[in-house]
Amino acid sequence: MMILDGKIVSQARRQIIQQQCLRFLSVYHRPPCLAVVIVGKDPASHVYVRNKEKSSQAVGILSKKYELDEETQQTELNQLIKKLNEDSGVDGILVQSPLPSHLSEKKILDLIDPNKDVDGFTFKNLGYLFGGNMKVAPCTPQGVLTILDYYKIEVESLHCVVVGRSNIVGKPMAHLLLDRNATVTICHSKTKDLSKLTREADLIVVAAGKKHLLRKENFKPGAIVIDVGIHGSGSGQKISGDVNPENMDGYLKAMTPVPGGVGPMTITTLLENTVKLAFRRMGENL
Ligand code: NDP
Repeated sequence: MMILDGKIVSQARRQIIQQQCLRFLSVYHRPPCLAVVIVGKDPASHVYVRNKEKSSQAVGILSKKYELDEETQQTELNQLIKKLNEDSGVDGILVQSPLPSHLSEKKILDLIDPNKDVDGFTFKNLGYLFGGNMKVAPCTPQGVLTILDYYKIEVESLHCVVVGRSNIVGKPMAHLLLDRNATVTICHSKTKDLSKLTREADLIVVAAGKKHLLRKENFKPGAIVIDVGIHGSGSGQKISGDVNPENMDGYLKAMTPVPGGVGPMTITTLLENTVKLAFRRMGENL
């Protein structure tokens, strides 16, 4: 079984991003800049933001962090987003989720300038993606495509089953596969007989957020399995995915490990999107 190693793909992509950042700096006399907004004290969110900052700095992206109190009101957050939209030195804006419950993520997604939307989550960018005219794709599904490309896995005419229909993973994943001429089935918590559908699939992307939801007997021999799930990321906990990886060797054609599969590609794609948008704002398409 081929292990689709996201760390290797990520390393290769980050070298390219680093070169692109150097070129940006030499032509435009400043590095590409990513503004990261975090509201409140959620420890996991702070870890994610720190990782994004470290990864940005390592490739030559200037990361500017905006930390707001838990009590921040919607108008104050809106004002900050408007300011960042207008700041010509900012190329990308990321608002770390989840936001405290009194704040509306929907309002923020309506507000972020789609030309600075590094996550590809704004309704306008999702609309472009679903309309087949993609500008910037959400990082996790785009990262999955980058892994498939790196390992030269062609999805055209494959039957792909996507488990999960969130706006940030499942739905955009399905559309990206459809754009590449795969035949796509989307499953969710109300799907009847999930296993029957996954057993028919050539390629399965599992993004259900349920630890070990699927196992060997849920796949056909020779299938390709992409596990997006992450469980147990607290310190000292063993990290596992939505797929139980036992006994897959010699059965599947290929599979992403957890950890070290899709996870590293999500941040790498965020860096790619930042640089892509930075060049695009200067009138260059990468
Ligand atoms: P959501 O909770 O937003 O969506 C989960 C989806 O899975 C829903 O559409 C839900 O269906 C579906 N689902 C839940 N249970 C079942 C089931 N038993 N059978 C079939 N479908 C089911 O999660 P996300 O999309 O945000 O994330 C999914 C997973 O991916 C999580 O584990 C998350 O931690 C991980 N993740 C990993 C990333 C990475 O970098 N590797 C990045 C982003 C997420 P319904 O719509 O009916 O409720």
